[in-house]
Amino acid sequence: MISGKAMVCGVIGNPVGHSLSPMMHNYYGEALKLDYIYVPCNVDDDKVGEAIRGAYALGFEGINVTVPHKQRVMEHLLEIDDAARCIGAVNTLVRMEGGYKGYNTDADGLYRAIMGHGINPEGKDCLMIGAGGAAKAVAYMLMKHGAASVVILNRTMDKAWTLAEEMNRQFGRETIKAMALEDYGKLEKEHYLAFQTTSVGMYPKVGHAPIEDTAFYKKIQTAVDIVYTPAKTRFMELVEEAGGQAVGGLDMLIYQGIIAFELWNPGVIVTEKMVDTVRQMMTERLNNR
Ligand code: NAP
Repeated sequence: MISGKAMVCGVIGNPVGHSLSPMMHNYYGEALKLDYIYVPCNVDDDKVGEAIRGAYALGFEGINVTVPHKQRVMEHLLEIDDAARCIGAVNTLVRMEGGYKGYNTDADGLYRAIMGHGINPEGKDCLMIGAGGAAKAVAYMLMKHGAASVVILNRTMDKAWTLAEEMNRQFGRETIKAMALEDYGKLEKEHYLAFQTTSVGMYPKVGHAPIEDTAFYKKIQTAVDIVYTPAKTRFMELVEEAGGQAVGGLDMLIYQGIIAFELWNPGVIVTEKMVDTVRQMMTERLNNR
């Protein structure tokens, strides 16, 4: 039951109609019998500042920020968490006296998701395909959790260089190297832990992978595709056909949301059973589009 004193949270984006976050957060609130409601808010690109000030005036306790506002929102915040500043994007706002503090829960969400699948990047030779917004959180997670080496392959080489240099500088070690996507044949190691972070293969343009060559996939032992729809991407199929283990991006999406939920509701625990239910609900929603 939602009372007049309910805690109000929400998500801003443009568009926001496809977001699975309202379903996920309202389910947690209901399952935990909290006086909590989470609403979707479509915000035009030139109205982000007004939206943040308005949400604060309306008493919103927390806000998720999705594409395309994750960078733009930063100038409207009172404080920014160190990890979010390093990643260069904010996806979660927590109310403070006088404004909001910005966090990025993508990196920790990804880490919790992969650890749940028994994948630990510590000491591993890692590979990333893509150097866009989401790749920054992936690179940060790999640096934070002790990857031995990381190669970023990207179609636009400059973006891979910039991301590698920025992360190496922030962490004070030369762990990440950049390569052009078409140079994948020059990869020196075997048994990589790979992260597919491009939008290639995402619904509705399913059936594509950023690299099709089976020789490339023989070098991958374990892979994570952060794309969450379809549940099994072409990239994951190619990894499995070459004998590797492949995990999709749905759990990353779920855990970044749980970390936001925990920031807004300190001390509240989302159980594994609730995670299973949410995974099922989200899968059904994605299948029935
Ligand atoms: P983005 O900033 O637009 O970056 C897109 C990336 O894909 C860039 O590296 C781009 O390369 C590459 N790319 C696009 N088309 C390509 C093509 N035809 N061939 C080769 N590379 C191509 O997007 P993003 O925000 O990082 O999101 C990327 C994907 O991650 C999306 O599918 C998104 O849904 C997913 N994601 C999932 C989660 C989760 O929780 N599971 C969270 C965030 C994002 P260039 O630099 O050369 O353009």
